Amino acid sequence: MQFGEKLAKLDCSLGHACQFCPHEETCTLDKPHHNRRLIEARLEEIDQIIVVLANKGGVGKSTVAANLAAGLAQRGFRVGMADADIHGPNQSRFFGFAGAHTRTTWSGLKTLNFSADGIAHPLRVGSLAFLLSDDTVPIVWRDAYKHDFIHHLIGSFDWGSLDYLVVDMPPGTGNELITLCDMLEGSNLSSVLVTTPQAIAQMDSLKAARFCRERGLPVVGAVENMSGVICPHCDGAFHMFPDAGLEDALAEFDIPRIAKIPLAPELAAGSDAGAPLVVSAAESTVAQAFDPLIDAVAELGREDFSGSVARALSDVFRQNMEARDLQEALTELPEEERRRLEAEFGAMLEGEAGRLHEAARKG
Ligand code: ADP
Repeated sequence: MQFGEKLAKLDCSLGHACQFCPHEETCTLDKPHHNRRLIEARLEEIDQIIVVLANKGGVGKSTVAANLAAGLAQRGFRVGMADADIHGPNQSRFFGFAGAHTRTTWSGLKTLNFSADGIAHPLRVGSLAFLLSDDTVPIVWRDAYKHDFIHHLIGSFDWGSLDYLVVDMPPGTGNELITLCDMLEGSNLSSVLVTTPQAIAQMDSLKAARFCRERGLPVVGAVENMSGVICPHCDGAFHMFPDAGLEDALAEFDIPRIAKIPLAPELAAGSDAGAPLVVSAAESTVAQAFDPLIDAVAELGREDFSGSVARALSDVFRQNMEARDLQEALTELPEEERRRLEAEFGAMLEGEAGRLHEAARKG
């Protein structure tokens, strides 16, 4: 069923939360029900949700999240980036949408879509920054509003059908993360931890690891960011931060260190320029350091990806079946003949979808 059809079943059939609705004051429908159903309908369209966590600010969580999302899009997946970092909603800048705003339509708040060479499906970005008049103003919110924001981010943005929604979380394991985990219970939810090699960052990331274990939140792996510097003159590597034995500490939680990303000026420059490095300089050594992370996350969705290929094809085929030209041609025929042809055509398309599904699964 298309998202539009799901919305049509939803009382007022509007794809955003009541708070964004011009009729909110006079509307007599069940608003909590509408907002709840909206989130359920959105989640049905998203195969995998990956939350990117760091218990500490400034370790490069948003940078890793942006490059992960862009890398998945480059591998052909349909990807969304939900910027849940309430205190520093930077994804708008990382994807070149600094200062941009969104609008409300019947199907929800419009995401801003990032395109680049080699990306088949534009990457959909949804951020609190698109709702602010000025994203440089610090945000001071009480917990109740934070709770609402996380719901709006997932429910009110028009994500469409996605293979992956990458969520850039605020630092810490507090209210926002708990809200999100509660809301996403029953979805395909996994996490990626981001830390630096230093003891102080490691201590915080182990708290995040503990949180994931207690909540039963699967961890794909940990990314060690700012892990060494490559000298631009001699290409020699040296370490800025002392190595506090992250790999061993994570092993106690069965969490593998899946990628080591160097401290590299081009990575920061890519974020400022509004194009993640894995897209703007895909062949560079630093961009390729993200590969093991992107591969591990891509592996998670392999089964679901092939399923979503089949679903996307079925949708296209169904639309073809409903296409006006075809229907007009069929109405010329006697009823019995028409039904027989429709059945044959449907079976042929389903067979084709099954064949492609199988090929995608193997490939
Ligand atoms: P967080 O989301 O953890 O607060 P950010 O991703 O916003 O961290 O990164 C903080 C700053 O460090 C940003 O200016 C970013 O461009 C820069 N940065 C992050 N990782 C690297 C890296 N590996 N090399 C160079 N600069 C980095």
